[in-house]
Amino acid sequence: MKAFTYERPTDTAGAVTAIAKPGAKFIAGGTNLLDLMKVEVEAPAHLVDVSRLPLAQIEEMNDGGLRIGATVTNSDLAGDARVRERYPLLSRALLNGASGQLRNQATTAGNLLQRTRCFYFYDTSKPCNKRVPGSGCSALQGFNRIHAVLGASDACIAVHPSDMAVGMAALDAEVEVQSASGQRRIKMADFHRLPESTPQKETSLEPGELITGVILPPPPAGTQIYRKVRDRASYAFALVSVAAVLDLDGDNVKTARIALGGVAHKPWRATEAERQLVSAPASSEAYAAAGEAALQGAKGYGHNDFKIQLASRTIARTLADAAQQKKG
Ligand code: SF4
Repeated sequence: MKAFTYERPTDTAGAVTAIAKPGAKFIAGGTNLLDLMKVEVEAPAHLVDVSRLPLAQIEEMNDGGLRIGATVTNSDLAGDARVRERYPLLSRALLNGASGQLRNQATTAGNLLQRTRCFYFYDTSKPCNKRVPGSGCSALQGFNRIHAVLGASDACIAVHPSDMAVGMAALDAEVEVQSASGQRRIKMADFHRLPESTPQKETSLEPGELITGVILPPPPAGTQIYRKVRDRASYAFALVSVAAVLDLDGDNVKTARIALGGVAHKPWRATEAERQLVSAPASSEAYAAAGEAALQGAKGYGHNDFKIQLASRTIARTLADAAQQKKG
């Protein structure tokens, strides 16, 4: 690990000032960043520890939503009674991520900013455009079973590994950020980027911006489900995950939201499938059609071809389960 300096500000203004130092990077739980530093994929000259900032609260919003502080741990967020009752898919997504020990340490902001688990990103002996821009992508012709089938580019086919962010995408959350020039909010749908020709740029954060919280709007009407498909029952990243919210009006679909994980460089909202479902009969045929619509234009790279059908079927099954729960 390369040597670095360290400081621990106690307020957000101090953190925003500190991050202006050359080579500075924020750290909180450190569950991903420290691993990356050990293999020298990340080599910050200065660490700004934000874990003691007063951002560990979950607060009620006037409109019935919640504001989640940036340093709320994944365990505390998953276990919060309001989250469990009003946003059950988010609680479920969090509990499907990592292990209990990691969830106790990992923070809300850190979860959003965790980096891909592409094998080649961590292997400094292999070309990787995300790690060394312009060096090439080893996954394109390599072992790409865990890689993207939607929104990828010739420069990078990595996926974002978060479960939490997929749940938040389905809930239309917004990320609250602060910098020296003030505060702003970024819609979750716009927070993570597709790789295009610059896979090293993973979010729409500007230099010097600190995530201070995530805003959840009032809970959407309907039944919420988060389903994760992975190689083993725990402590594994998603091959495919689906966050779905389904609201029925009699025998028809009133509204639907579908977000996918494990298939793209960002949480992927299946907006065309959502649109098709509105006013469609609440039927297994409609859910299957939505699954197919969501994967329109998907492209496999060999080892990951199976993900296209897996994602499509997982969407159909998750919607059917949501409808069943609603009726049941
Ligand atoms: Fe690097 Fe992306 Fe290619 Fe993986 S998929 S090797 S992260 S450029």
